[in-house]
Amino acid sequence: MFYRLKTDFRLSIITLLGASAILGITPFAIFRFVQGNLLAAVVDVTILVGIVASVTHAWLTGRTERSGLFLAVTTSSSAVVVGAVTGEPGLFWVFPCLVTSFFLARPRLAIVINMGAILALMVQVDIFRSLVQMWSFAAGAVVVSACAYVFAYRNESQRERLEHLATIDPLTGVLNRRSMDQELALAVASANRSGQACAIALLDLDRFKAINDEYGHGVGDNVLVEMVALIQQHTRRTDRLFRYGGEEFVLLLPGTRDAGLTTVLTNLQQILRKHLKHPGGPVTASFGVAQLAYRETVDSWLARADAALYEAKASGRDCIIYADLEPAQSETAASPEECSLT
Ligand code: GH3
Ligand code: MG
Ligand code: MG
Repeated sequence: MFYRLKTDFRLSIITLLGASAILGITPFAIFRFVQGNLLAAVVDVTILVGIVASVTHAWLTGRTERSGLFLAVTTSSSAVVVGAVTGEPGLFWVFPCLVTSFFLARPRLAIVINMGAILALMVQVDIFRSLVQMWSFAAGAVVVSACAYVFAYRNESQRERLEHLATIDPLTGVLNRRSMDQELALAVASANRSGQACAIALLDLDRFKAINDEYGHGVGDNVLVEMVALIQQHTRRTDRLFRYGGEEFVLLLPGTRDAGLTTVLTNLQQILRKHLKHPGGPVTASFGVAQLAYRETVDSWLARADAALYEAKASGRDCIIYADLEPAQSETAASPEECSLT
């Protein structure tokens, strides 16, 4: 829990705002019920339910964008209401709310929300002492929003760039091992929840070192890039390819099992055999495949695929070996005869 709060800035802001709102609004809701002001109490409770639901949604799904947007709209609307009801003193609270929008929503949405809030206050001319005061307020609010927008926009683009650098393999453009660890963990969690089948194929190019040694590293690099392009062209959008390291890749195939899995991988093997080439001839790959077993861990799943790949190499390469579904029996995944048949 603390880890998520530390690493997910938007989630921490949503949680902080949610907690403050609950602590701040609950006493008022109770007080209004006791006073018999039912309408105001119902409004308070509705706001509370909305806030609790959006904080819960953010924690459960990890998707903070929608919750953040909801809270940004709620915060700005509250600022408008407070400004309208209390007049000048309430207007000072508008400024922190305008800045908070950028912590909660994407910069473009936050600026739209802010402009809406500023306009909503300006149409209520009576809450300002004079027109000069109204325009001063509007100019100040727009400048604060514009500065916050520039800062948030820069922050967002730098974060996206950092995320790209941290998750993408620079040579082939596919997801790297760090992303793989996260996505396999998510795939296991989702398969456990939904019962949906899921498989991984560990691919390793055959005798790749010899290509480097004979034709140079540049040629080897091109083979890797071409292989990735071929795999991406011949797999579904929902399949995910990761560079596991060197000339080893992991293909995650959600919703694929048994005969369907065999068809996809046999087709991929044929495609590589036919189209993947280096100056001296075709390049082939060996495959170790494992379907996710019931309540299996990522480590055990990968270990079974790795053992199957090891067996594919030992069986003469350019073949597909399927691990048994039982983690404990991974050692006896498939026979070498099966390999030579593929
Ligand atoms: P096997 O069939 O048993 O897999 O043999 P192999 O030669 O493919 O395997 P080995 O593990 O002996 O060699 C892998 C080679 O992959 C060694 C390394 O130089 C090369 N390699 C790893 N990463 C890259 C890369 O990014 N670019 C290039 N060109 N070569 C790479
Ligand atoms: Mg290899
Ligand atoms: Mg290797």
